[in-house]
Amino acid sequence: MKKVPFLDLHAAYAEIKREIDEAVGRVFASGWYILGPEVEAFEAEFAGYCEAQHCIGMANGLDALHLALRAMEVGPGDEVIVPSNTYIATWLAVSQCSATPVPVEPDDRTYNIDPSLIEAAITPRTKVILPVHLYGQPADMDPILAIARRHGLRVLEDGAQAHGARYKGRRIGANGDAAAWSFYPGKNLGAVGDGGAITTSDAELADRIRVLRNYGSRVKYVNEVQGYNSRLDPIQAAVLRVKLKHLDAWNVRRGALAKQYLNGLADTGLRLPHVPEWADPAWHLFVVRSVQRDRLQQRLTDAGIGTLIHYPIPPHRQQAYAAAGIPTDAFPLAGRMADELLSLPIGPQLPTAAVAQVIEVMGRQFAAT
Ligand SMILES: *Cc1c(COP(=O)(O)O)cnc(C)c1O
Repeated sequence: MKKVPFLDLHAAYAEIKREIDEAVGRVFASGWYILGPEVEAFEAEFAGYCEAQHCIGMANGLDALHLALRAMEVGPGDEVIVPSNTYIATWLAVSQCSATPVPVEPDDRTYNIDPSLIEAAITPRTKVILPVHLYGQPADMDPILAIARRHGLRVLEDGAQAHGARYKGRRIGANGDAAAWSFYPGKNLGAVGDGGAITTSDAELADRIRVLRNYGSRVKYVNEVQGYNSRLDPIQAAVLRVKLKHLDAWNVRRGALAKQYLNGLADTGLRLPHVPEWADPAWHLFVVRSVQRDRLQQRLTDAGIGTLIHYPIPPHRQQAYAAAGIPTDAFPLAGRMADELLSLPIGPQLPTAAVAQVIEVMGRQFAAT
């Protein structure tokens, strides 16, 4: 049997090598190595893609989340509502503002933040709700936006896993006040190094983020605020412009593999991804659930199939958040996700034969709960 890697980034490069090499060569030859035309062109193209008015290219996804919160004037003493089950970056961005992440548990079927639990977590200090479109599945935005409106809160979306996903037909990118993006190489739209961005249709917010990412400066050597250095690299922007042209087609391939898994695993007893009728997922990950997760992962490993766990330790159980004093069992659903979820190989270059192989190895019964 052939080995099946969890994700093959080189295969993506091989498919579009000529275009990528041309784009990178163009930047080398241009003499522009910070911001400039390549970054501006990507910003315009990605804003258009996301159905947002503005895009600000940044150094990585964590900075995008952090500086968006800064631009929303989140500071010491403030609270930001975050999912209890997410990559730790979502929480760290809040902590970097000296604010407090306030976790809310996910919906047990979609693994995204449960809107019906948000209001109970709101206090007079709450400034922002920060939903994550986890695994490329859009979070249920309309109830979240309604709650935000009722309480005068901002909404920042973590879109790091959801490039191209749609919610009720609308692209992820400007449903809330702003969306933060990561272009980490393994994401649906991935650079060849670090990269990130904010999309928003709020001109004032866009302006503030643009100034913050570049030393608090609009005019060279004139500094309005104490800013940061978090600029999208022009080489990464050039690569992203090429890959953006392929994103929809690549997401369609992900969707076809997801369908193959959904059909092929229907009788295994595993809990499969639940897709609400309003969701058009980007299928960043294909995640199955079982109380026998570790046994399942071992069987796949033995068969040469790469899998990952997203994520094995929820943020509140990380040593990094020990000082917050949150009891280990405080967020039982986040705990269960960490214990029971397993991500199977998926990616635009993964052959359907490889998915068939994974399905065959998983053939036997596994209890879902
Ligand atoms: C990848 C990711 C980030 C952080 O992105 P970086 O570019 O690695 O900083 C933030 N949130 C989520 C949900 C992610 O998956």
